[in-house]
Amino acid sequence: MHRRLSCPPENPTTVNMEPLKKRPYTASAKKFIFIAILSFVAGIFLTVKYNGNPPGNRNAYDEHIFDICVVGAGLSGAVISERYANKLDKTVLIMEKRDHIGGNVFDYIDEETGIRVNKYGAHLFHTRSERVWDYMQTWSKWTKWEHKVLGMAGDKYFPIPVNIETVNVLFDENIQNPKQMDAWLAKEQVSYERDPQNSEEMALSRVGQRLYDIIFKPYTIKQWDKQPSQLGPEVTARIPIRNDFDDRYFSDPYQALPSDGYTAIFERMFDNSLITVRLNTDYFDVRDKIRCGKTYFTGPVDAYYAHLGWDKLEYRSIDFERQVIRNTEFFQPAAVVNHPTPEVDYTRIVEYKHFLNQASPDTVIFYERSMDIGDPYYPVPNHRNKALYEKYKTMAVKEYNVKFVGRLANYKYFNMDESILNALQLFDKETSRPFWKKGFPWADSKRI
Ligand SMILES: Cc1cc2nc3c(=O)[nH]c(=O)nc-3n(C[C@H](O)[C@H](O)[C@H](O)COP(=O)(O)OP(=O)(O)OC[C@H]3O[C@@H](n4cnc5c(N)ncnc54)[C@H](O)[C@@H]3O)c2cc1C
Repeated sequence: MHRRLSCPPENPTTVNMEPLKKRPYTASAKKFIFIAILSFVAGIFLTVKYNGNPPGNRNAYDEHIFDICVVGAGLSGAVISERYANKLDKTVLIMEKRDHIGGNVFDYIDEETGIRVNKYGAHLFHTRSERVWDYMQTWSKWTKWEHKVLGMAGDKYFPIPVNIETVNVLFDENIQNPKQMDAWLAKEQVSYERDPQNSEEMALSRVGQRLYDIIFKPYTIKQWDKQPSQLGPEVTARIPIRNDFDDRYFSDPYQALPSDGYTAIFERMFDNSLITVRLNTDYFDVRDKIRCGKTYFTGPVDAYYAHLGWDKLEYRSIDFERQVIRNTEFFQPAAVVNHPTPEVDYTRIVEYKHFLNQASPDTVIFYERSMDIGDPYYPVPNHRNKALYEKYKTMAVKEYNVKFVGRLANYKYFNMDESILNALQLFDKETSRPFWKKGFPWADSKRI
């Protein structure tokens, strides 16, 4: 008889099949299982109830403990703060290093003329996002305002962005309709066998040499202090070119100005006893003295990682020179006049009196000059900065309980509506994740 070594026995009756006896749990094992189940259920309950933040923070009787800390009282920080306070009943600490709220959107009444001006350059609200438009209705009444910009070269004013009138004024043409404009552009445009690789190629492919030389090239050099060939194609790609007489600067369906200014919007957004705003407070000076469930950082991402000693990201800044002109209705024919030509060192002049037709016997204008030094306003889009930002980003995404939100933290030029949407979406993401990803409330919140 052959013996099968590796196969199961063919006749089960020949094998001892005595069933295994269930061993009873010891008393201590039962106790352990009971405590484990209880802790798990309590964990789920507390996590869902307190949304991942320690319950002790909610009373904020210790003025250094907050559910949420927000660095920066600009638009991104304001959206995050008011959502957490108004929607989730969370305590919020906002730290702002400037002496005012509103970030770059801040506006105020110029004392000498009584005209409302923006401290950091004209801000025109425009969006095609229904969500952003609806959201902003909560915070302000809005007055419809379609922004128009003129350019000036020599003694000629022309519409910006380029439209039929621009070409007629600059080149003594007599273009009458979109078909003729398309034909004119087609004659001018430079064609490449591959996609345009930089801002120079992008502009030449869209408007041709002559418009490039008068408007695009000198303005880009003034604005960025770089040749267009040194900048990514997106810089000149986002400037619209029109084949009709539309002289509006933006074509979004919603374009408006807040009827009582931007700063009032922030005052309303922060009007909740759960929100504490500390002005003149640099986060890096106080971070060791406060305790936050979660932190939202809206400052420059490279400033957050300054201690690593990596190269800094490049930004462009603006110098604003104010001038009051007495007993003058208007200084210039539009609120904003761009000066692309190299003959003058400013990039544009803003006359705020035009906005919402403000009344004053005088007028106030601001010359804007683009600078290397000063507050960081515009990320400089070139290969070096894009690669460097990606390096910072790999650190930022790994950060425990710190989220980077907004223009400077993402090193990306956001219009106001994009900043708002970005913050709303981040809030949704952070607060609608399944409970097991939110962190457990009993875990010690990171001391930052
Ligand atoms: C000149 C200019 C003109 C613009 N015009 C328009 C326009 O016409 N239409 C439009 O839609 N958008 C415009 N924008 C874009 C608009 O300003 C932004 O979308 C918006 O301000 C972004 O808000 P934010 O909160 O992300 O950033 P910011 O407004 O920059 O706010 C960040 C805040 O964080 C603070 N902060 C930074 N570091 C620290 C720290 N360590 N501690 C404490 N606080 C800190 C800063 O002081 C700042 O107040 C313009 C931007 C500029 C620069």
